Amino acid sequence: MKPYIEKLVIDPEFKNEGFPHQVAEKLGLEPFYMTKPELVAEIRENPGEDLFKTAKKVMFFTENRGRFLKKCPGSKGVICCNYYTINSVSGCPFDCSYCILQHYIENNPFITVFLNRSRAIDEISEFLKENKRIRVGTGELADSLALDFLLDESGFFVSELAKRSLFDRVQFEFKTKSAEIERLLEVKSRCPEANIVAGFSVNVPRFRDLEEIGTASIEERLSAALRLQKAGIKTAIHFDPILMLDPLFDDYMELIKTIFTTLQPSEIAWISMGGFRHTLALTEIIQRRLPGSFLFRGEMFPSDTDNKLRYLAPLRRRFYKAFFDKISSYFNGVPPLYMCMEKAFMWSDTGMKPIDNVFGD
Ligand code: SF4
Repeated sequence: MKPYIEKLVIDPEFKNEGFPHQVAEKLGLEPFYMTKPELVAEIRENPGEDLFKTAKKVMFFTENRGRFLKKCPGSKGVICCNYYTINSVSGCPFDCSYCILQHYIENNPFITVFLNRSRAIDEISEFLKENKRIRVGTGELADSLALDFLLDESGFFVSELAKRSLFDRVQFEFKTKSAEIERLLEVKSRCPEANIVAGFSVNVPRFRDLEEIGTASIEERLSAALRLQKAGIKTAIHFDPILMLDPLFDDYMELIKTIFTTLQPSEIAWISMGGFRHTLALTEIIQRRLPGSFLFRGEMFPSDTDNKLRYLAPLRRRFYKAFFDKISSYFNGVPPLYMCMEKAFMWSDTGMKPIDNVFGD
């Protein structure tokens, strides 16, 4: 099902840009012209039943005045996988209970599309003057593919990187919980040299049904991933957030079996896993918005490094080790698997090592 956009707003400074008008035409909407503060005020005055849900139906076009390319914000003391992100869009039509975008409810709750995204390519070129290669993706503050049918992010980034012959040094990931892959398939057939990875975030079906509202089902994500693999596009799998609750343990083991018997392991570029972690501020927002969520059923404690709440180390160790062992069985003992935001002791306790072709040299 295509996400539903109800209102399209253009920052008056950019009213003559063609792109937002093309998107408005595709959506059959008449654009409005407002500055960001005006739009924030309007949404606050008319929040509907849930301000965040209302704002997710609004798409706002403006310019990014900051940097696009950023290093993935790892926490102090954790082993870093050298991943970079590009925030060309901020905001998402889906409504996952654990989404960090809820932090921005007050001052940026809508879907913001940045019109000067070509500067992101300049920033990648600059980065490559001092570095051999980069692993980069767009899905940090948005879903990379959910709105691809409107925004053509895949077409834009692939054609710009190809024009500058950067694909021998750039591996570009589109991270999603959708099954919106038609544009990506088209782009790959036009540009076979594109070094792209489609990353699918996955979770156990009963978690997805309750806590990832609007996203594609796990079966739909897997059949999309399989179609991409058959078209020569590498896939990635992200187990994140893992809810480390005993009643879900067997479901996770079953999920791993389904994924790696459905997909071709040799066509998987990398796999990540990250236990559920969150800030106290997010806890309050989630409890207010989604009182039925079962995110907080386990015991969690503040970490000494980043003040995020996490499961205790023995529980994390047990889940990660079980994931590692089970996933390893589909990769002859050497899966391209890494942990997200974990310290060195957790790597050695689980017998895992950072993988060179993922973490870079
Ligand atoms: S898909 Fe990602 S960005 Fe979108 S609501 Fe879910 S967690 Fe947030």
